[in-house]
Amino acid sequence: MAFDAHYPESSFTFRWLGTGGIEFRYQETIVLVDPFLTRPTLFNLIWRPLHPNSELIKRHLPRADQILITHSHYDHIMDVPEIMRYTAAKAYGSPLAMQILQRSGVAPQRCQVVQPGCELQIGHFTLRVLSGGHIFIPFFTIKETSPKHTPPSRVWDYQMDSCYSYVLSFPEHIILIWHNLHGTDAPPAHLLFLNHEISRHELAILLNRVQPAQVVPIHWDNFFQPLDKPIQPFFYPTHKLFPPLQRANLQDFVKAVNEIAPAAQVILPKPFEFITIS
Ligand SMILES: [Zn+2]
Repeated sequence: MAFDAHYPESSFTFRWLGTGGIEFRYQETIVLVDPFLTRPTLFNLIWRPLHPNSELIKRHLPRADQILITHSHYDHIMDVPEIMRYTAAKAYGSPLAMQILQRSGVAPQRCQVVQPGCELQIGHFTLRVLSGGHIFIPFFTIKETSPKHTPPSRVWDYQMDSCYSYVLSFPEHIILIWHNLHGTDAPPAHLLFLNHEISRHELAILLNRVQPAQVVPIHWDNFFQPLDKPIQPFFYPTHKLFPPLQRANLQDFVKAVNEIAPAAQVILPKPFEFITIS
């Protein structure tokens, strides 16, 4: 019998949720990583307080047992308190990420601070926390505390103290969610999720260390657009005078992975599409 009408009948599935969001299901445990569906427009982001789109979130993410947060920028954490309101999920992340959840009304006993080196059992998965790294964003440099204590929040209330990568594993599979601009220190894994903007040099180091069977680029889409519109690549700095920005080029990323690690398969899922790994 199916585990739930919403989910395909398979012991392990994942779904990409747009941006850095991923849902993993192994047996009866559902783990979300950085779920972010609301995607305010750029205008609303700058001028308005941020409110999660409750209907959209509940429709696409009916269940959650555990929620992992890589870092506390709004596009990784702003929807998490809403998911925790209608589920019994527990959240894991840095001290500031857990402060931000509690500021939004989540009970402290449902917020577990984790640090690089931690290893713990979460449902049917083993979780290992690794340190991560983040690109420089003006006005969003490293902060230890957040200035604001009550919602509604503005985009600049979502500062970060640190950034984590995560290893999720169960007996047949090791999944690496790599949130780092460097490939050094990455452990071996079967399934690798990564931000596609890593340099080719670091991508080669990463793929040689991880030796993945499958690679899934994430956080490449324009998250100012709602998820019911066709997904568009986001703009990235070129580090040149002209053009200063260009759209993410997934074809170049796929080509680079194919050249460096010909045995690895690149998966480009559509948002919410169930991917079954046997
Ligand atoms: Zn970020």
